[in-house]
Amino acid sequence: MSTNIVIVGGGHAAAQLCAGLAEAGQGGRVHLVCEEATIPYHRPPLSKTFLKSPDEQPQQHRAEAWYAESGITMHLGDAALAIDRAARTVTLQSGTVLGWERLVLATGTRARRLSALAGLSNVALLRAADEAAQLRSLLAAAQHVTVLGGGFIGLEVAATALALGKQVLVLESAPRLLSRAVSPELSAHVLATHRAAGMDLRVGVQSGALQIDGPRLMAIEVDGAPQPIDLLLLGIGAVPETALAEAAGLECADGIVVDAYMQTSDERVLAVGDCTRFPDRRAGQALRLESVQNANDQARTAVATLTGAPRPHDAVPWFWSDQGSLRLQMAGLVPAPGTPGHVTVRRPGASAASFSLLHYVDGQLRCVESVNAPVDHMMSRKLLEAGRSPDPAVAADPAVPLKTHLA
Ligand code: NAP
Repeated sequence: MSTNIVIVGGGHAAAQLCAGLAEAGQGGRVHLVCEEATIPYHRPPLSKTFLKSPDEQPQQHRAEAWYAESGITMHLGDAALAIDRAARTVTLQSGTVLGWERLVLATGTRARRLSALAGLSNVALLRAADEAAQLRSLLAAAQHVTVLGGGFIGLEVAATALALGKQVLVLESAPRLLSRAVSPELSAHVLATHRAAGMDLRVGVQSGALQIDGPRLMAIEVDGAPQPIDLLLLGIGAVPETALAEAAGLECADGIVVDAYMQTSDERVLAVGDCTRFPDRRAGQALRLESVQNANDQARTAVATLTGAPRPHDAVPWFWSDQGSLRLQMAGLVPAPGTPGHVTVRRPGASAASFSLLHYVDGQLRCVESVNAPVDHMMSRKLLEAGRSPDPAVAADPAVPLKTHLA
């Protein structure tokens, strides 16, 4: 019987799995199967510093030599095509067949596309490093940059383009920005800040007719007027990569369904990261989260399962997004608008551009959104981890450090 652990994927979750298994002395069992031809790299810089500097290369989590020294066998540029659970094998595009004792799917998400824009030379997506490199060269030659989608990708790239001196138009179909990740108060602050910096943002808009000339998108109709386009970035969300799992008969429901140990409906197969739907103790329901934190923390839980020291997953979600002058940091999950018993408390920061919003439900602290307030964000994560709920009136007082409530 093979004693291999085969990991499918090359994102943050896969990198953290490799690190955790190597640390546990299990690197020699690991095969990493990665569709991209590069070793795992950090994705957050791709929408920011990478676009600003023509010479910047993707930053690897670990150097290539580290994988060899750790005994990890790499299969780069070779996609996994099929899983045979009965034979315990996975077949790669190259024809290689790998046997496994435990299989981990870290397949992530893929960017959502629009068929009307397929194949156009000045329409870009951003998910992987090669797409970021293409976006960077398109950006260098563009003056009118339109971004479809006011989510994390869209706003980070829009802020980068603005900093590069471009004329930037953001079109968001929802009534507010970042509507799935942040509160209406924070959405409004983000909108006002970007507008004050010179960005044209339209929310609740449906883009209309497209003007296409050969392979190029020339303009898009918005509110009845054509808007010229040199470059359009699609940032309209991501779809979990579940095809491999579904074809293998694993339970999926907008994500690969896992238990608290990251085991799928076949306990020999685990899944981690953006592609999973997992039970969240604090939320009291199954969630799918797209974030670096979730990928890293789920990978740690999976390593515990794989190394015979299982413990149920229990992590406070947190996110961050750097957009021009805004450093947004969210700890916990913001209550859905209209949640009974939801109270929001504003805690001023060190400057006018800095504050935190503390969200309570029935007196329990659930989420803290910080703007240019990194210390309050770090303390908020600790408060949420400890299950502490400081008195709202005291928490709103900037003269009382949040760490006081941890004592
Ligand atoms: P996203 O955050 O889900 O935002 C996409 C936005 O586009 C949503 O507000 C969506 O509205 C809107 N939209 C959908 N169809 C549209 C259309 N036809 N026209 C205009 N707007 C439309 O997704 P994303 O920004 O594309 O990011 C993709 C992935 O990268 C996610 O996994 C994200 O978490 C990750 N990412 C994370 C960070 C970070 O954590 N800082 C940074 C970059 C990327 P609806 O919600 O109404 O569909």
